[in-house]
Amino acid sequence: MSFKKAIFSGAAMVLTAATLFSTGVMAAGEVNLYSARKEALIKPLLDRFSEQTGIKVNLVTGDADALLKRLQSEGRNSPADLLITTDAGRLYRAVEAGVTQAVESETLRQAVPEAYREPAGHWYGLSLRARPIFYLKDKVSPGELSSYEDLADPKWAGRICIRSSGNIYNQSLVASMIAHSGEEKTEQWAAGLVRNFARSPKGGDRDQIKAAAAGECDIAVANTYYYGGMLTGKDESERLAAEKVALFWPNQSGRGTHVNISGAAVTAHAGNRDNAIKLLEFLVQPESQSWYAEVNYEYPVRDGVAWSDLLQQWGQFKSDNLNLSQLGKNNSSAVMIMDRAGWK
Ligand code: FE
Repeated sequence: MSFKKAIFSGAAMVLTAATLFSTGVMAAGEVNLYSARKEALIKPLLDRFSEQTGIKVNLVTGDADALLKRLQSEGRNSPADLLITTDAGRLYRAVEAGVTQAVESETLRQAVPEAYREPAGHWYGLSLRARPIFYLKDKVSPGELSSYEDLADPKWAGRICIRSSGNIYNQSLVASMIAHSGEEKTEQWAAGLVRNFARSPKGGDRDQIKAAAAGECDIAVANTYYYGGMLTGKDESERLAAEKVALFWPNQSGRGTHVNISGAAVTAHAGNRDNAIKLLEFLVQPESQSWYAEVNYEYPVRDGVAWSDLLQQWGQFKSDNLNLSQLGKNNSSAVMIMDRAGWK
């Protein structure tokens, strides 16, 4: 072999190694994610995942119900490997629609408390959202408040703002009450609550807090992250409205405050199943958990992860440890009860 040729074959070997390496990266492959969370609330985390693993994440974001419909209509041809969405009621619908599959992972089982994952592994919670009571500081003292049940007491007549029964957050709250107290008691409660409405339900959670601040009602029910968003957002009027109310954690002497999750499910026909599980496992790592909870003003689903400063200000609370798959199971009963109670 001539000297020149030796150099050439040396270069070829370097080239082969480089090719091997790049196929190695390519073999890490990709994962296709359908996310009901907005890009800004998840993309930085996905980028970090890609940096660490070499796995490319193809992200499709959209409305939660639209993404589920899309998964159903795509069927086996769906490119999606993982679905991220909010509310256990929606995750239950995805399971019922047959678009998910059960996955087993010791990492996921260790990280996600039992209440916040589907028993067979069809979905896993990624963050916690609480749905407490907000009261107008000028009109109500926290000592007058106690539980969701108490909101049906006649003392609150004409004083409560809550969004419509078409909203899954309220359906899930009512579903949790069915799980704890049965349908009959829940129906009586719903009828009493509706009698106490300050107005016919309209708007989203933020609008209930704004209505209280504007003097339309004294009590609002809302998820904490809306309150957090109002307190820290750029909208001056929203901030002022949020500052007029305070947060009350209901049912602390009993089962705890109603909580829900954002969560993820591996799709039934995932072509990149292993990578989907890797991404799920990444999302429950402590660093991911603190970031994801913080940008969404939500709580980490995993124990032992530090809360953001804002969440710490709102204080520790006891959360209902009902398995959230119950929310989906009781959803249709909840909807019927709300309808019969006249909850618009
Ligand atoms: Fe929401």
